[in-house]
Amino acid sequence: MMVGCIFCKIINKEIKTDLVYEDDKFIAFNDISPVAPLHLLIIPKKHIESINHLAKKDRELVGELFLTAQKIAKEQKVDQTGYRLIINVGKDAGQTVSHLHLHLLGRKELPM
Ligand code: AMP
Ligand code: ZN
Repeated sequence: MMVGCIFCKIINKEIKTDLVYEDDKFIAFNDISPVAPLHLLIIPKKHIESINHLAKKDRELVGELFLTAQKIAKEQKVDQTGYRLIINVGKDAGQTVSHLHLHLLGRKELPM
């Protein structure tokens, strides 16, 4: 838990969101300004600022993050139609929230 982190507040239910998934390590919710019909954010409950801040000890968590994305894609029925996973890192990529998150986009053909 990081004081002042908006995603930590969502994890702690201090800020309400459209939760679509939760387990002991991750939550997923609808992005507040979606760029595709399905636009979810999947985040670890552990506060990690970005990919730049990953440590060796996070390797299992990162693996589980992708397996969670796979599970959610199936639940959301986009596993066969396709989807895109995006992680923005830092300024040039437009990372606006400093809490690691995976964007899951789907339900339309996405431009390259
Ligand atoms: P990024 O640009 O990769 O850092 O993505 C941050 C994402 O968080 C953006 O797509 C925002 O629309 C989204 N976002 C910010 N605040 C909230 C919120 N309270 N609930 C849902 N999504 C949010
Ligand atoms: Zn956080």
